[in-house]
Amino acid sequence: MKIGIVGGGIVGSSLFRILSEKHQVKVLDPKVKTQFPTLIHSMLLKGMDVQLAFKSREIYDKYKIERYPFKSYTLGKVDSSILSLWENYGVSIKETEVNWIGEKAIEAQGGDSLVNIKQLTDIPKEQNKVKIELKENIARVFANGRELTREFDTFILSAGSWNSNIVIGEKIPLKPYYCWATVMKGPRQLDKFIVYDYILGFYSRPLLGIGSPLFVAGDGDIIEMEPPEDGILRRPEIKDMELVISRIRTRFTARMIYISGNMCEGTPDMKPVYGRIKDNLYIVAGLNGYGAEVGPGLALLTAQFIEKGEEVKEYLIDRFRGIRDFSLGKEPHEL
Ligand SMILES: Cc1cc2nc3c(=O)[nH]c(=O)nc-3n(C[C@H](O)[C@H](O)[C@H](O)COP(=O)(O)OP(=O)(O)OC[C@H]3O[C@@H](n4cnc5c(N)ncnc54)[C@H](O)[C@@H]3O)c2cc1C
Repeated sequence: MKIGIVGGGIVGSSLFRILSEKHQVKVLDPKVKTQFPTLIHSMLLKGMDVQLAFKSREIYDKYKIERYPFKSYTLGKVDSSILSLWENYGVSIKETEVNWIGEKAIEAQGGDSLVNIKQLTDIPKEQNKVKIELKENIARVFANGRELTREFDTFILSAGSWNSNIVIGEKIPLKPYYCWATVMKGPRQLDKFIVYDYILGFYSRPLLGIGSPLFVAGDGDIIEMEPPEDGILRRPEIKDMELVISRIRTRFTARMIYISGNMCEGTPDMKPVYGRIKDNLYIVAGLNGYGAEVGPGLALLTAQFIEKGEEVKEYLIDRFRGIRDFSLGKEPHEL
């Protein structure tokens, strides 16, 4: 099959790697997004997302994408059924008092790593800005104004927060939003461990992982905003920035160095979606704040759907049929 992938971020690059084994695949991407060099991959999720994260990890390993494992500490009450689920997927956990945090925590080993996303997304891309017109059963696909519809057997839309701008003619159940994190200087342990603090409401991860005094911290807050067409991201007003930083400083002696952010995308139930939306168009989207965790797994489900017709209903786009408008909720990787 000749397959055109629209958007070569985490999902598009995973799709490219999986589908290129059997098909002729091209990735179309105007490179308007700068990816963070590394992102958290965590198995410490809920429900079927844990299975999807497991599949993602298998994909990273299959395509030799570097992962740097870290121990993590989860603060706050975690349901015993969730802990058992993590253990079933090979994560070692124990409850322990962590002196440098000053709290009891769930220490997890084998569940978290930072993934080299730059390496994952380093694939051949044709620098094309795509627009897709949805009409009856067909998607008409244009790249830099030139129609490509007949040049491919099928297309896959995987342009993250740009998806809803690319598609014209019909509404798709996706909304873009802005999400931020801050680089801070503080205790060196924070560059050695990942912390999910559900008591105060923030997470932290190593910046470099070499025991420097630098770490990255943020929360899962959502600021609805359109993605930039020209790739120049204009930071919106972040109303809760001071509040989140003060929460981090309640726990640790730390100071902010800089704030960074980027675009994310959510669905009506905040879970990712995949499926077929036209005879010649599939979609994989709505990865919100955990695309490195579940994105490659969802790309695999999409490939299995295209090639064998296999469906995993939990993530199918059909669940949103009839939904006209919606508000974004809480990110699903938060417990
Ligand atoms: C501050 C911050 C921290 C985060 N931390 C983590 C983390 O630690 N772990 C984690 O799992 N997730 C994290 N995320 C979320 C993660 O970045 C997203 O879930 C993920 O990038 C979504 O992947 P995607 O492939 O759907 O889209 P993207 O990675 O956004 O890729 C979309 C691609 O589409 C392209 N595109 C845009 N317009 C067009 C067009 N017209 N035609 C064709 N292509 C187009 C873009 O250039 C881009 O390459 C974080 C996000 C932010 C903002």
